[in-house]
Amino acid sequence: MSAFAIGVDLGGTNLRIAAVDERGTLLEKTTAGTQVERGRDFVVNEMCDAIHATAARFSSSTLAGIGIGIPGIIDMDSGMLRESPNLPGWDNYPVRDEIERRLRTKVILENDANSAALGEKWLGAARDHDDMLMLTLGTGVGGGIVLGGRVWHGMRGMAGEPGHITIEPDGPPCPCGNRGCLEQLASATAVLRMAREAIAKGVSPALACASHCNAGLSAESVYQMAVQGDPAAQEIFRRVGWALGIALAGLINLLNLPIYVIGGGVASAWDAFLRPLLEEVQKRSFVYRATTPGGASGPGKKTIITRALLGGDAGLFGAARLPLLAFAGSTDEGVRKHV
Ligand SMILES: [Zn+2]
Repeated sequence: MSAFAIGVDLGGTNLRIAAVDERGTLLEKTTAGTQVERGRDFVVNEMCDAIHATAARFSSSTLAGIGIGIPGIIDMDSGMLRESPNLPGWDNYPVRDEIERRLRTKVILENDANSAALGEKWLGAARDHDDMLMLTLGTGVGGGIVLGGRVWHGMRGMAGEPGHITIEPDGPPCPCGNRGCLEQLASATAVLRMAREAIAKGVSPALACASHCNAGLSAESVYQMAVQGDPAAQEIFRRVGWALGIALAGLINLLNLPIYVIGGGVASAWDAFLRPLLEEVQKRSFVYRATTPGGASGPGKKTIITRALLGGDAGLFGAARLPLLAFAGSTDEGVRKHV
């Protein structure tokens, strides 16, 4: 009998649920709003009802389990959410046990950025590699490390937070308590802050106009201005690339992985930040220089830095992959490692 899994992406705004088979075929995908303001129990009830309805539609297949991607810090041992800025009131709540109890099915929780990394490894940009690192440039900067096809969790599930690598020791303060984190320099929030700073300095009439005359500023509108040649907008993305390049140079030196995948909304500005990113990596990482794609580094495997392919679905596919990996490990006829 074929197996399938249910992947859930529980965000602060949307609840998305997908049924995915063991080969990665999307069987069904639904999206509903997350009514966080109605409280934790309401959201859990809605989520369990939606998962139950999805599972019932594929009852002729074996349900391997449910994987749930959640923004925040998850304690993998206890299945509790330690901290989640997007889900107020969920701190120290035993999410996994509660959902398992209601649905009587194996549930695996994962940080949403780790889920996205696993999705890109399984079916996206890193599908041909066993080891990879992903950076997700969204409201914040998330990340995930996948080694041997599985998420690298560290001691308690908190590994893979490249968004909080220090880039500027005295840079902008970060909610994590540090200053000058990558997240403060390469996220959509950072792009907006830098745009507002440019407006305050009076160096970009175009950005000021966008802020007052049009629908308002967004990372996307700042990117559009960079494309149209506005020097201040171009400088913002140059700085994004610079920060990403510094972070990646350190990660490449540390990990020597075959592929580094960059996703999230800000990755749409790829053309605007890739050059400064590569310049910085080239300058700062001797491991990258020895493995640069192209002729100069000689024969052998190369370090790939590339865009994510699955967009917003990466986290859903990755979440579904979690129980399938566990299922494969528990059955002889289960999923092959590289399906
Ligand atoms: Zn930080």
